[in-house]
Amino acid sequence: MPELPEVEVVRRKLEPQLTGRTIRRIVTTEPSYFFLTSPGTLKRRLRGQTVRGLVRKGKYLSLEFDSGNTLLLHLGMTGQLFMSGASSLRLLQSTAHVALSPEAQPTFVTDKHTHFQMYFDDDRPHMLFRDVRKFGKVKLLGTGEIDPRIAKLGTDALKADPEALFRACKSRKTAIKNVLLDQSVLAGVGNIYADEALFAAGVRPTRRAPRVTRKECGRLIAALQRILLRSIETGGSSISDFVNPDGEDGKFQDERRVYARTGEPCCSCSETIKRLVIGQRSSHFCPHCQS
Ligand SMILES: [Zn+2]
Repeated sequence: MPELPEVEVVRRKLEPQLTGRTIRRIVTTEPSYFFLTSPGTLKRRLRGQTVRGLVRKGKYLSLEFDSGNTLLLHLGMTGQLFMSGASSLRLLQSTAHVALSPEAQPTFVTDKHTHFQMYFDDDRPHMLFRDVRKFGKVKLLGTGEIDPRIAKLGTDALKADPEALFRACKSRKTAIKNVLLDQSVLAGVGNIYADEALFAAGVRPTRRAPRVTRKECGRLIAALQRILLRSIETGGSSISDFVNPDGEDGKFQDERRVYARTGEPCCSCSETIKRLVIGQRSSHFCPHCQS
C-alpha cells in the first residue's frame, strides 16, 4: 500500500511534468466506485483546465488548477500514477524479478485497470492512473471546496511537532501504535513507518499512549521524520504493488529493522523480533530494545 513516502515520490516526479500544461482530453473506464466524480463530469469539466501544481497532504494528492478547481487523487491499495513512457516489470504484471536492462523493458500498454488518463494540448507524455483493486479515488472539487477526508486530517507527518503528539497521547486511552496511525493526529503515517519509528525510539507499540513521555514523543517524531525522508530519498518502499513513476522499485524495504521481520534476530541486541496484532494491524517490535 502506498504510504506517505511513496506518495511524495510520485508528487516530486510528476509535478514538474504536469505544471503549466492544459488538459485536452480525459479518457476513463466505465463509471465505478473508483470515480467519486462521474467520468462524464470529469471529461466535461477538466477539459481546458491548466495545471498550477501538485500538492500532498498525508497520502492524498491534489492536482490544483489555475481556475481554483482541484482534482483529488488517492492511490488506495494498488494505485499507480505515472506518465506514459514509464516502463516497469511490475506494470507488466510479471511476478518474476528478472533484471532487465532499461532498454529491454517494454513500455507500458494501457489495460482494463487503467481507469483514468489525462491528455494535454501538446505532444508530451500524458498522465495515467492505473489501479488493479480500484480502492483508489478520483474526485473533482470546485473552487474553495474542501473534501471532508482532507478536512479531518491532522498535521502532515513531515511537519508534525513533538508537543502536538504528546498532547494527543495524553488525551487517548489507547496504545501508542494506534495514536501514530490515527490520521487525525499525524497524516500519512502507515504501519511500516510507525513500527520502525517505535523501534528507533525504544517505545513498545502496546504502551498506553498517556504513559509515553514528552522526551519519547520527541524521539518518535524525530525518528519518524528521519525514516520518512530516508524512504523518500530511496524512492519509497515497494513491499506492496507500489511502483514509482520512473518504473523503478523503491529500495526502503532493504532497510527495515523490525517491520515484517518476525522471528529474525534484532539488529541491535539479537533478541527475536515479535509480532502482535494491535487495532487489527500487525505490529513488529523487539521485546528487549522497546519498553
Ligand atoms: Zn533488540
